[in-house]
Amino acid sequence: MKNYFGAPIKKLGFGFMRLPTLPGKPDSEIDIEQVKKMVDLYLERGFTYFDTAFVYHGGKSEEAIREAVSKRYARDKFQVTTKLPLWNPNVTLDEMKGMTQTSLDRAGIDFYDLYFLHGIGPGREEMLDKIKAWDYLQSVKDTGKAKNIGFSYHGDGDTLNKILDAHAKDIDIIQLQINYLDWEDEGVQSKKCYDAAVAHGVGVIVMEPVKGGSLANFTPAVSDIFKKANPDASLASWALRFPQGLDGVITVLSGMSNVEQVDDNTKTTDNAGPLNDAEKKVIANALEELKKVPTIPCTACRYCVDDCPKSINTPGIIGILNDYAKYQNLAGAKRSYGMTTGGGPMPGAVAAKSSDCIECGSCENHCPQHIKIIETHKEAVKLFE
Ligand code: SF4
Ligand code: SF4
Repeated sequence: MKNYFGAPIKKLGFGFMRLPTLPGKPDSEIDIEQVKKMVDLYLERGFTYFDTAFVYHGGKSEEAIREAVSKRYARDKFQVTTKLPLWNPNVTLDEMKGMTQTSLDRAGIDFYDLYFLHGIGPGREEMLDKIKAWDYLQSVKDTGKAKNIGFSYHGDGDTLNKILDAHAKDIDIIQLQINYLDWEDEGVQSKKCYDAAVAHGVGVIVMEPVKGGSLANFTPAVSDIFKKANPDASLASWALRFPQGLDGVITVLSGMSNVEQVDDNTKTTDNAGPLNDAEKKVIANALEELKKVPTIPCTACRYCVDDCPKSINTPGIIGILNDYAKYQNLAGAKRSYGMTTGGGPMPGAVAAKSSDCIECGSCENHCPQHIKIIETHKEAVKLFE
């Protein structure tokens, strides 16, 4: 595999998207003293790669790179990546340049080892061409502000193949959501996306190996399968090891939130290695057990959204309720709920929560699955608001 960073790096990257925050404070108030301890342990064990983004923690994640990493360690002791958000279809060249410079200033560095367009996916190809995003990305590399360039991707394999047919020559690395649950999933299509990247010869960095913490929390029946196979291994360690064994993967990010997670993940990476065949079978058994957890049979047809006077994203909310039923990860579910119902910068996103439901019943009249949608929203309010 090509050495994008001068020398091979270890297969655990430190994602700065779920940093610990000060007690009772919002997402933007990072507990920087705790982050320093996490960074120290991570680097002490020979790991070197950090991942941030312009938008993480309201911009404070890049500043945390400065305070915890670049002010305290020589620049050649670590690599750092950030991401340029291009969700405004009218963004200008000067605005893109301004965001790049802001990212550098916040992190206290004069180049990034890798610079990504953030969250590329279906339906955005034309817009990226219109604002000349690919040319701009190349200029960031040409001016020495980034050593490598690429994009993070959320979408299906066919679209990724099309984007890479046109732009694989323009980039070095792509960041993909890969975990054992999404590997064959029809929506996320981890395997198809991974295959597309490998076929086009671009390096792969893996994000969400633990699916936002979900694969570290299961119902007791599923957890028991893992615990019986290896009582000492954490659930997260199984998830982390799955993509670490894939060819062409440069590193696997984990959005770590405390020192214990850094300790567990670094030890897993150093000591356990990729999964063997018997261990892959354990995961297959756990996935079978997971299918038995009762969920709401929504097919995401979205008829209910078209008819909703409040434009509530009912299938998105049902998806979170279903994930919560399977993984019992309340913190992760609340975070997903906030993103799904908060509007956000993505095109078409609407700020509408379950508590905005006026119980008009229009959605239930149109739902082909006869789901009791009003009751579903009451449940979501109870759990997530
Ligand atoms: S019942 Fe609630 S979710 Fe359904 S259409 Fe009316 S407002 Fe929307
Ligand atoms: S109409 Fe029913 S099946 Fe379709 S997205 Fe809405 S809740 Fe799901």
